[in-house]
Order: sequence, then C-alpha cells, then structure tokens
Amino acid sequence: MPNADLPSYLSRENVGPWETYLEQVERVAPHLERAYLPWIETLRRPKRSLIVDVPIKLDNGEVAHFEGYRVHHNLSRGPGKGGIRYHPDVTLSEVMALAAWMTIKNAVVQVPYGGAKGGVRVDPKQLSLAELERLTRRYASELNILLGPDRDIPAPDINTNEQVMAWIMDTYSANQGGTATGVVTGKPLALGGSLGRRDATGRGVFIAAREAARRLNLPIEGARVAVQGFGNVGEAAARIFAENGARVVALQDDTGTLHRETGIDVAAARAHRAQTGGLHGCVNADAVSAEAFWQVPCDFLIPAAVENQITEANAGAIRAKVVVEGANGPTTPAADLLLQARGITVVPDVIANAGGVTVSYFEWVQDISSFFWSEMEINQRLDRILTEAFSGIWNVSQARSLPLRTAAFVIGCNRVLEARVLRGLYP
Ligand code: GLU
Repeated sequence: MPNADLPSYLSRENVGPWETYLEQVERVAPHLERAYLPWIETLRRPKRSLIVDVPIKLDNGEVAHFEGYRVHHNLSRGPGKGGIRYHPDVTLSEVMALAAWMTIKNAVVQVPYGGAKGGVRVDPKQLSLAELERLTRRYASELNILLGPDRDIPAPDINTNEQVMAWIMDTYSANQGGTATGVVTGKPLALGGSLGRRDATGRGVFIAAREAARRLNLPIEGARVAVQGFGNVGEAAARIFAENGARVVALQDDTGTLHRETGIDVAAARAHRAQTGGLHGCVNADAVSAEAFWQVPCDFLIPAAVENQITEANAGAIRAKVVVEGANGPTTPAADLLLQARGITVVPDVIANAGGVTVSYFEWVQDISSFFWSEMEINQRLDRILTEAFSGIWNVSQARSLPLRTAAFVIGCNRVLEARVLRGLYP
C-alpha cells in the first residue's frame, strides 16, 4: 500500500534530470583539456533518440498503446550500453539524462561502450505477466533497428529484470535467425548471464563507499547506514554493508520508511518484502514518516531509488558524513552545493553505481568468447576496476580541489572527447 505522505519524485523540485546533467557539464567545462573544449557541445546533445509506439493486446482483448524510448547519447567509445526502465513517469528527457550518465560512467570505469538508455512509460504492476511479455517483445522489435551485440546492448534498470532481458534476447534472436546472447546483459544464468551480475550494482556501491571511507578515516565496522530504495541496488547494498559489519539504521521504499538505531535485520526486511510487496508493516523496526528518513543520523546515506531525491528542501537536514549515490541522478545541482558547503562528501553515481555496468561488460565478454568465469574472479575484477577508478577520481579531486562529481566528470568527459576528436567528423 503506497504511503500517502511520500511525495512523488517529480514533485520534490522542479529540476528535471536532463537539466541536472547539463548543469554538471557546465561545472566540469572549465576543468577539461583545452583542446577538447570546441567539442564540448557533443556532450550536450544526444547522438540519436528514438520514440516508439508500443501497441499490445491486453488479456481482455483490447489494444493498449504505450510510449517507448531508446536514446544513444554518445557512441564515440563503443556501442551503446545502458538499461531499460519501465515506469509510468518515464519521459524522453529523463531517458536522455540517463543515457548521458551512462556515457560518463562507462568512460569513468573504462568499459569500451558509449552511453545509451531506454524506457517505456508504463506501470508494469498493472500488467499481467503475459501482457508484460507482449509489451517487452513489441518494444524490443521496435528497437530492432538500433540493437545488436556490437551496436547497442540493453540491461535491466528500474522494474526490469532477468526475465525481461531473456524476452529481449529471444525476440532479437528470432528476428536475426540465431541465438545472440551478447545483445543484452543481466540475463538469467541459463542464457549466458554472468555470476555476480545480480548483486553487482549494490556490491559496487559498497566498494565505492569503502574506498571513500578509507580516505576519510571512517571505519565500516559499526558504521550507520541509511538506504533509500529496496530494489536490486538498495537491497544488495544494505545486505553487503551488513555483511561487512555496518549497521543498517534506516530503510525506505515506496511503501514505507523503517528506522532502528541498533540496526535493522536486512534479511527479515527482505523476507517481509517478498511476502507483502514492500517494507510497509515490517515489525523489526519503527515505522517513521518519509521525510524523517533524511534526518536519520548516519555515516553513509545511500539514495538507491530514483532521481531528484536530495534537493534544496532536504539537503540542509541530512545528518550523514558521506552520500553514496546508488541511484542515477539522486542529487540536484543546488543540493550538491549545499552538501559541499556542509562538508558532506558525495560519491557520485557515475562511480558509485558503476558496478552494474562493469559486470555487464564481463557478461558481454563471456558471451562473445563463450567462456565463463567463476564468481570469485568476477568479484575480484569488479573490485579492482572500481578501486582504481575511485582512486583516479579522488586524486583529481585532491589535486584540483574539486568535488568528487566534478573530478569524475573531468576524467569521463576527457576520455569521451579524446575519442571524439580522434574519430573526427564524417563527412
Ligand atoms: N541500469 C544500470 C545502470 O544504470 C546498468 C546498465 C548496464 O548494465 O548496461 O548503470
């Protein structure tokens, strides 16, 4: 049951994700390689955006139409890569921003991809499983002109999962006349999925937090953690923090907010959600108001839900030492400045949640080579890539006195623009 006092993310502040991204580009511009500055406009425009009509037959025989999108923000460094989101509030400009953040993220962790993202404006909870399959297959067919293992490789995002990826893989394969496992990542293991992919984004959130904590002299053991969002990212992040000795003092999803100073049992919360569909009514912690979540004293605050959550309205009340962005774009530009002024470190999305696409890259490599790795090997490689990327960002931030987000953008944007300049213009 939705909690009535939880405002929708779009009403929290009147800044859309695309405007947030453009402002982030403004902030990095003075710090980029001078030779690349004539090309900066390339970051401000998606390379291509496709809007598709997705008609499906409902179980009652009627036909319903949904609007779908796929945006290639930049392909200078490789094929398009990024997830597909099913949500009733999805818009083209939101997908543009999410695609742009993929461009930067892929460059920051040096996976050989450009940035892409897709979405369908639908509430999947209103569809039966059969309707969801028809929606996915029709949407995948409409995207056929863009997709391919060396052109554009989707993955899960909000409200999409391994089953949805399996349908996309099967639809693309049927249209091609073969089995193209490398066309999507985040697939089931039985279809060329990768060990470690399911937890990869949450694991990456933990690794990025651990690296920040090491440099800030904050112990993980006993640290207090507050997590907004209890989906694929938030649940795994909370669990892995707890496994490493931290205390999960607050959890929030779209059904409720839980608080317990002595620590919430993450496994019990997960079992409750599996039974009831959400955190609402979970008895091993106190139910508090949605707004109280932001005031919970903690060491690590992890927004792992949607965009525009940390805004001018709540940034002044946050009592965390470090914000680790599990979601894409959870902090508005105004809130970024407020947190900075208050001495709160923000580990930005383009490194904090890059674990997902990093293991997606491993999955794609395994599919292409038809040779599969152990979970230990995957987790070790993930740790190494994120630790090195974090270290590069930290060093730029220290050397140039920049916030971590701008430092990450310096590294990511310079890499994208270097590739763009080397490729030149055609014709
Ligand atoms: N949707 C995830 C993200 O925002 C994963 C993308 C991918 O694996 O391609 O990073």
